[in-house]
Amino acid sequence: MTAPYTNIYKTALEPTRRVDLAIIGGGCAGLSLARELAARQTLDSVVILEPRLQYQDDRSWCFWSTPHHALAHLVSHTWSSWMFGKQGEQSKTRGCTNNPYQYIRSADFYRDCLDRISECPSIELKLGFTVTTINRQNDAWHIETGQGSFLAKQVIDTRPPSPNQLSQANLYQCFLGAEIQFDHGIHTNLSAVELMTDMRMLEGEFCFTYVLPLAQDRLLIELTLFATRPYSAEDLAEDFHQLLVERGLAQSTIIRTEYGNLPMGLPTSQNEHPRAGIGGGALRPSSGYGFMRIQRWAALCAEQYCKQGNVLAQTASGFWLQKMDQLFLSVIQRQPTLAPILFDKLLGQPQTERFIRFMNDRANLLDYLYIVVSLPKTPFIQALISNFLRRHV
Ligand SMILES: Cc1cc2nc3c(=O)[nH]c(=O)nc-3n(C[C@H](O)[C@H](O)[C@H](O)COP(=O)(O)OP(=O)(O)OC[C@H]3O[C@@H](n4cnc5c(N)ncnc54)[C@H](O)[C@@H]3O)c2cc1C
Repeated sequence: MTAPYTNIYKTALEPTRRVDLAIIGGGCAGLSLARELAARQTLDSVVILEPRLQYQDDRSWCFWSTPHHALAHLVSHTWSSWMFGKQGEQSKTRGCTNNPYQYIRSADFYRDCLDRISECPSIELKLGFTVTTINRQNDAWHIETGQGSFLAKQVIDTRPPSPNQLSQANLYQCFLGAEIQFDHGIHTNLSAVELMTDMRMLEGEFCFTYVLPLAQDRLLIELTLFATRPYSAEDLAEDFHQLLVERGLAQSTIIRTEYGNLPMGLPTSQNEHPRAGIGGGALRPSSGYGFMRIQRWAALCAEQYCKQGNVLAQTASGFWLQKMDQLFLSVIQRQPTLAPILFDKLLGQPQTERFIRFMNDRANLLDYLYIVVSLPKTPFIQALISNFLRRHV
């Protein structure tokens, strides 16, 4: 997907160039920021440096919608309820008509970003550029790539976390999934997403199934672990195949696959330059959701850049949310077998608006209290005591 855009270039060796802003990485965060800058018709020279040569439909972005969000035109599916449940039990359903669960295909998002960027001549997307170093040199950032170097007044780094940073995550959300087409339509409930069904333990790790019904004869199905170590796609392949067999889908056509290894509870990086996206701590520690957080950061960052000329690093969660997420993660880390019970309670909140506000980082104090009260207390008190002792003894 690189269409005939005039300001999108593929690898070409360049002499050192001076630019106003360098965006390192043209994935979700980098393109989101560029898109917001293009919407504001920035006149500053901006380069986005991205190693890939072509964008693929490589991920599905889902979230609970808020009214009139800026990407509503890209939503290709909407569900008004979610299903959840432990393995061997009947799945339960909760409704979310006011804040439906929505799906944006990455292919649509990338295309929309490239279209917007191409309308702003001062922004260049440079494909095939891999950044190797970023150093401060007098009044500018010196950025080295295999294809030449750049001197930028401002830089924002959206590269994925380094292996060292990644190794410090509390847990890893590892998943392998596929968009599948069946030969004939089956009676799927098209209005309900399977958010966390078949919740169980798999070789000592918490595991569940995630299903997005896309049509009578098409769905996206994923096997997900909240794991103590990263699992590769190969590690998950056999169990994923087993899931397809159990669901009677093993003979269906696989349209595309997707894999993720998302850090949950990543410590903030100690870089000299500002960071955003996953490497900047964009993912919600307890859920791995980050798409809408990245969109909010991109809009704020573009606004600040256009008004004041400097970029904004990805912002961490608010104090209470951070504390709750950390505690939640440490309970799962200490007692993974409790995870199916905890998520069953969390997703089963009768007051679904409170749960959605909590998931969308918009919870108020009452929502927090309501959620805390709904969860079993003993494991949280034990984790609090153990965290306190680890820090102070
Ligand atoms: C398969 C998948 C599904 C997901 N689904 C959801 C979801 O449903 N909802 C949700 O909220 N979140 C979801 N996420 C989490 C998160 O929203 C995405 O991972 C999102 O893409 C993160 O954006 P990012 O910009 O930090 O990383 P990326 O989109 O991965 O972008 C990082 C970019 O940096 C580039 N890069 C790497 N090395 C260099 C280098 N040396 N120099 C320059 N550039 C470099 C990469 O090529 C890449 O383009 C999902 C993640 C995955 C992997």
